[in-house]
Amino acid sequence: MRIQALAVSETLAMAAKSRELKSRGIDIIDLSLGEPDFNTPDAIKEAGIRAIQENFSHYPPVSGYSDLRTAISGKLKRDNNLDYSPDQIVVSSGAKQSIANVILCAVDPGDEVIIPAPYWVSYPEIIKLAGGIPVVVSAGLNQNFKISPAQLESAITHKTRAFLFSSPSNPTGEIYSKEELKALADVFARHPQILILSDEIYEYINYEGTHESIAQFESVRDRVVIINGVSKGYAMTGWRIGYMAGPMWIVKACTKLQGQYTSGSCSVAQKASVAALNGDPAEINKMVTEFKNRRDLVVKRLSAIPGVKTNNPPGAFYVLPDVTFFIGKSDGKTTITSSNDLVMYLLNEANVALVSGAAFGAPECIRISYSTSVDILNQGIDRMAHALSRLS
Ligand code: PMP
Ligand code: GLU
Repeated sequence: MRIQALAVSETLAMAAKSRELKSRGIDIIDLSLGEPDFNTPDAIKEAGIRAIQENFSHYPPVSGYSDLRTAISGKLKRDNNLDYSPDQIVVSSGAKQSIANVILCAVDPGDEVIIPAPYWVSYPEIIKLAGGIPVVVSAGLNQNFKISPAQLESAITHKTRAFLFSSPSNPTGEIYSKEELKALADVFARHPQILILSDEIYEYINYEGTHESIAQFESVRDRVVIINGVSKGYAMTGWRIGYMAGPMWIVKACTKLQGQYTSGSCSVAQKASVAALNGDPAEINKMVTEFKNRRDLVVKRLSAIPGVKTNNPPGAFYVLPDVTFFIGKSDGKTTITSSNDLVMYLLNEANVALVSGAAFGAPECIRISYSTSVDILNQGIDRMAHALSRLS
């Protein structure tokens, strides 16, 4: 059965485990799930309330209300200088569904999809759901977790159908520069059969420079599908609104697919998303400033723990330290043989919930989500440092 080949989402599984331990009265510090701890800004909530009062309670168009697709088209011009008409956009129930729609429409059984590792946990599973073959190209901390054009080139075969990546990246927090994206686009220019899925959900959570999209390069433009949404930038994870923008053939395919299995996304959440996209960016900037303070704190404190090696991630809200140093070590009771073991050790001994790097194709790492208060982060890192110091 198809479902048996599918792994559970490790991020959601760890969040569920930590919720369960908390409900049993155990004082867990949860640094597992990646979602802003802020509440949705008031103006956006009010737009949602108005939509309920104005009876937006009927089926919306399958690809999304036209005012939302117009707002997305305007956002792509305003923020990215990209021209996508509202017709080239499909709104879905979260960016996760947008990715699944595109992969299910474009990838046939046996097709290969290249994903740079560390990758976001759901990418290989969504590819497998479509019968595709995830082809993993790994980049470690020594190359800032970013693949080179030569690595990309050597992974391409006649079966390669798509390439799927995120920048800013979950789980590494790294960002491909304009020059790096151009170098990858130059490789793709030689392989016109490859569709490029550019997951830009962390676009706004960028502490250095402006956001760059691979869609800006003419040589690949008609093969790029942009994935984005309101979850991260506007603290709207629960509203479940994401979107794709791309060439008409894939837009039509995704609309047909979605018309058969969700009928489109929540009407009220769509109206709130219009307010988000057209709203005051000051709200986003406040959150990003706070994320940056937390990034600085977490990187400084982790770097001071003997054996923990980390990059200084310029975006998203994750750090992915390399913990190879601890493999083979023991506290006298438990021997750590993998990053999975280390995550379980930290959960049991330090009551800190993290996600193993193995879930992201980086078995030498653990992922820390720092989307929580400075106070909680400090407590979590104190506990981690203490538990790690007991391993020898
Ligand atoms: N892509 C990446 C890289 C993510 O981290 C997430 C986070 N959940 C998603 C897509 C999905 O976001 P959404 O909440 O819009 O489904
Ligand atoms: N993207 C977040 C994470 O990686 C949320 C969980 C999920 O959607 O898998 O933690």
